[in-house]
Amino acid sequence: MSAVLPTLRVALPVPLPQLFDYLPPAGGPARPDDVGRRVRVPFGPRELVGTVAGIGTGEAADTLRAALDWLDPQPLLHGELLESLRWLSHYTHAPLGETLATALPVALRRGEPLPDTQAWGWRLTEAGHTALPGLRQGRPRQLAELLAAAADADGLDEDRLDDRLEDWRGAARSLARRGLAERVAIAAPAAAAPPAAGPHLNDEQQAAAAALRQSSGFAAFLLDGVTGSGKTEVYLQAIADCLARGRQALVLVPEIGLTPQTLARFRTRLGVPVHVLHSGLSDGERARAWAAAWRGQARLVVGTRSAVFTPLPEAGLIVVDEEHDGSYKQQDGIRYNARDFALVRGKALDVPVILGSATPSLESLHNARGGRYAHLRLSRRAGEARPPRVRVLDVRKRPLRDGLSAEVLAGVGDALAAGGQVLVFKNRRGYAPVLLCHDCGWTAECRRCSTPLHSTAMTVHGGGRRLQCHHCGARQPVPLACPDCGSLALQPQGIGTERLEERLVEAFPDFPVLRIDSASTARRDALEQQLARFGDAPGILVGTQILAKGHDLPKLTRVVVVGIDEGLFSADFRASEKLAQQLIQVAGRAGRADLAGEVWLQTHHPENALLHTLVNGGYHAFADAELVQRQAAGFPPFAHLALFRAEAKQVEMANQFLAAVRGLLPETGTEVECFGPMPAPMPRRAGFQRTQLLLSSPTRRALHALLDAVVPAIHALPQARRVRWSLDVDPLDLY
Ligand code: ADP
Ligand code: ZN
Ligand code: ZN
Repeated sequence: MSAVLPTLRVALPVPLPQLFDYLPPAGGPARPDDVGRRVRVPFGPRELVGTVAGIGTGEAADTLRAALDWLDPQPLLHGELLESLRWLSHYTHAPLGETLATALPVALRRGEPLPDTQAWGWRLTEAGHTALPGLRQGRPRQLAELLAAAADADGLDEDRLDDRLEDWRGAARSLARRGLAERVAIAAPAAAAPPAAGPHLNDEQQAAAAALRQSSGFAAFLLDGVTGSGKTEVYLQAIADCLARGRQALVLVPEIGLTPQTLARFRTRLGVPVHVLHSGLSDGERARAWAAAWRGQARLVVGTRSAVFTPLPEAGLIVVDEEHDGSYKQQDGIRYNARDFALVRGKALDVPVILGSATPSLESLHNARGGRYAHLRLSRRAGEARPPRVRVLDVRKRPLRDGLSAEVLAGVGDALAAGGQVLVFKNRRGYAPVLLCHDCGWTAECRRCSTPLHSTAMTVHGGGRRLQCHHCGARQPVPLACPDCGSLALQPQGIGTERLEERLVEAFPDFPVLRIDSASTARRDALEQQLARFGDAPGILVGTQILAKGHDLPKLTRVVVVGIDEGLFSADFRASEKLAQQLIQVAGRAGRADLAGEVWLQTHHPENALLHTLVNGGYHAFADAELVQRQAAGFPPFAHLALFRAEAKQVEMANQFLAAVRGLLPETGTEVECFGPMPAPMPRRAGFQRTQLLLSSPTRRALHALLDAVVPAIHALPQARRVRWSLDVDPLDLY
């Protein structure tokens, strides 16, 4: 028998809960400080990249295969980050291998080496200087002029180019292809300009800043301040303090919040390079930002959800802006919540965490009230700005044309005539939500998402010519005649943003109308360009999306909210919270120092309790009332949920699996209630039948004890191989 050698216990990105044992790559035994190194291993006929998660005793070592090679000279995931990720894997009941893979930038997941984080710049070549006067107008010429004007012979820093010229990377590639410009390594990130001074903080801001400065070690703060109350100024103060102490700061922003203006504000006010992490970057750019943080070179990292996995060897502060935002929750794969994980990391790193919002989630308010978070309030808009006036417009029995009452149209006209801009908000994209046959009642349904008992309508798009399913993406032209009765009387029912746009263009032909929704803003820079063209002149924005606060709209005086009524009657337990947050956030965009703002809510339910509370009492009154209801109904934050979802072509398969899961749960003796298997609220999507099983418990501990006990057995169920299933701990919605 061969000598017993310690083995590598490797976490691999496969949907299996265990670690996999390998002999170390040729030469040398496994050592404890191999933990956290990436390694390439054979796995069946494939090769996979994994991370060493432990060292085995070497029993049965002679039956094991050897790992192929090391990918890192030292551990990549180690210390706090590795321990926090182990916690996350345990908490979400997701395999450690998949969790670690999720935390790594894609390039590193694929096995590429940790990239070099040299700072780079651009300069004109000799040929470039010569050719410059003859270049055609356009981006490349603009870039060439910038480079020529930069006295700095070392080259112009890429970070600074980001500030100065949009889309400069394409222009740089074009110049480089012609030999006119070249990319050069520069000694150190350009000594950024000294930090610009900010406004003098008002009393409330000072109190918040003082509370933050006094804390040492981990503490959670809820910075609860109305829109425009100067929360960002408080973050900036805390970040400046953190940087001055020689520590790194991490700032998380929602998916739509990462605007060039936001980044410029951080850069100019803090005087350090901002390392950005978001989904719009190339794999290489992401890996570089991550590596710069890993090496401690990046002092300030600003990013969206997955930036919560940034290594912070010298951490000093974590900020989560707009903490209520749904984009912090990952909805597939490892279903983590970046806000919650930021708190876990803050605790492990022993640094303060600031959660900021004008409309805090009920979870966070509940935690603040229970004393688990320090509650910092900013109750007034900063500077001179006044809160907007809110009017509820009762449109019962009023004629509506394309969803707008005459009064609303007149109001829009008045605001435009006064030189203001108007935002018309409607949370339905497309032309109309439904296509109806006026003669027989047929409606266009998605064939892949409907069942005999539950129909999913296709949305009308393209000015009334195209049908699209918002759930599975299926598309088809609008039929010429009703497929059931042959009638030509097919009519779009209901209102989407496209239809509003059409109506507003017709009503106000002399003003620009800009539609903003996920279709028109899929590309981040497209939105920036459209807004730049829109400018400050009177005009109308219409959309489903709330513009992030980085998009400055100083002339916005009127916000019109159309058709919130669907949201008032949704079955989802979080629907009211989401609607209230949306209304308050969109209303918060109206009015500035010199221009009073008005918000008009057009509704058929002016007496609705939610609207009434919100309009008369504000967000906190709503939150108080809603928390009482959640408590009575046993919903979060008074209960802790875990949702098993299963999908299969045949509904029986999905139900058999969930029934087997249910069979594994103890009948009695736990504080966990189990509901289901039952059809999902959307019982079919893209041809798959969907069912679910909900677990609910008043205590987190009981829920997790139960999951700990049963999840390994669920992986082993024979039925598990016949369905697609997932477990969502703390689901955001029950879909
Ligand atoms: P929030 O993050 O709460 O939405 P911001 O920090 O972006 O608010 O501030 C809103 C606006 O008010 C910004 O233009 C900001 O420069 C300005 N502002 C913030 N604090 C002050 C202050 N103390 N005095 C004057 N203006 C301020
Ligand atoms: Zn018909
Ligand atoms: Zn569909």
